[in-house]
Amino acid sequence: MPHEAGAGLAPGFRGVICASFGATDDTADHDTGGRPRHDLRFESATPGTLSDLRSVLGRSRVGVRLVLAGPPADIRAAAAAAAECGLLEEEVTLLSDEAGPCVVYCPHCLTTTIDRAAGSEVECQGCATVLAITDHFSRRKGAYLGYSAHAEEAS
Ligand SMILES: [Zn+2]
Repeated sequence: MPHEAGAGLAPGFRGVICASFGATDDTADHDTGGRPRHDLRFESATPGTLSDLRSVLGRSRVGVRLVLAGPPADIRAAAAAAAECGLLEEEVTLLSDEAGPCVVYCPHCLTTTIDRAAGSEVECQGCATVLAITDHFSRRKGAYLGYSAHAEEAS
């Protein structure tokens, strides 16, 4: 019932919003540090569910915290939506389902590629550069930053 996602959330909510995607229950044990929590559960990050998430965030106040759990591709989309709503990086916690596909940002052609094999390298779908995947997750881009794995050999 995604259309009721924001129901029950008081205007000006300043607690922790825990949004999970798919079958994950990673947010269940999340310690909110005694702050009130509001749980949202979505099947996946679709334009509809992201719109619901935006409306919830729009009704909450500065100071709210957001916890996202689920497959990386869904978290990525949700984190980008949260950034659009003005949430800062430190206000968003990502509990990524490591088994899911990883999203990698290519600095060469600015394309994001979904690495379904979840390996340490992936071929960029934009420019075919083999990208090594770093641990640095950019919430602004909603992806892990990649770099050319074989740059030294190529030049
Ligand atoms: Zn590329």
